[in-house]
Amino acid sequence: MNCCNEKPIIELYSGEKLCKSHFIEYFENKVLKTIRQFDLIDKKENLGVALSGGKDSLTVLYILNKLSKQNPKIKINAIAIDEGIQNYRDKTLEKAKDFCHKNNLELHIFSYKEEFGLKLDGMLKILNVKPCTICGIFRRYLLNKKSKDLKLTKLATGHNLDDECQSILMNQLKNNIQASARLGPKVGLVHDEKFVQRIKPLYLCTEKEVTTYAFVNGLLDEFNECPNVPQSFRAQVRDVLNDLENKFPGTKYSIVNSFLQTLPLLKQQFKDEVIKVCIKCSESSANDVCNACIYLEKLRKSIEVI
Ligand SMILES: [Zn+2]
Ligand SMILES: [Zn+2]
Repeated sequence: MNCCNEKPIIELYSGEKLCKSHFIEYFENKVLKTIRQFDLIDKKENLGVALSGGKDSLTVLYILNKLSKQNPKIKINAIAIDEGIQNYRDKTLEKAKDFCHKNNLELHIFSYKEEFGLKLDGMLKILNVKPCTICGIFRRYLLNKKSKDLKLTKLATGHNLDDECQSILMNQLKNNIQASARLGPKVGLVHDEKFVQRIKPLYLCTEKEVTTYAFVNGLLDEFNECPNVPQSFRAQVRDVLNDLENKFPGTKYSIVNSFLQTLPLLKQQFKDEVIKVCIKCSESSANDVCNACIYLEKLRKSIEVI
């Protein structure tokens, strides 16, 4: 069924077809409902948005910026990490800069080169690990550290329903349920001043919906995929999920909705997980020395040898 006489631009899993203006209304209402339902944003916030330059994070920034215009007590800060991935990050950063400039938003950029002394490309020549491994560790480390420096109350990310679905399934397949306890629309197990709370306003929006919203608002670009993403485990899980969703529409919602029902039990089960502090950098860590410091030490040693 169609929403009105206008030409439909998307078909929802329910079979409903929406035109451009009804889709925008549907999508924005869904995000606002998610924010209310999971209590993601308070009346007064100094919010950060982790910007990768891709469609998901730009969509979050676009919508939260709209929200902050109606609520002057909600301040928005965009944060981007420059890993130094040639022909990829430089281009997505241009997109981010351009967007923030046009929308009068403050953009804070932190680079690996300035913070750690080396770009990701240079690190990869020394460390024998997959790029996504160190990228994930240093990115999280910097985002958390800089969020605290900027005195952010929360950090919003662009994770959508498909991302969450993949993570849930990956943790199941790897028998890593403790990692699932950290998922959900509000990330983390315990509230701690060492962690800036991360929130996912697009939690209930599918990849297809985010792409469509980004497209009609001019937020889509051709540099979405990082060149370092190979046929990773996540990519294979993504394909399986897309296949299931095609055959059985609504599968992704079912996975996330049933996960949300078990999430309080998981959080209860793992609530005693203690957050330690890294003895080198004082950032939060699961062990005595955090992963970021372990890799930085390895980098330092091999540079001395050279
Ligand atoms: Zn319509
Ligand atoms: Zn450390």
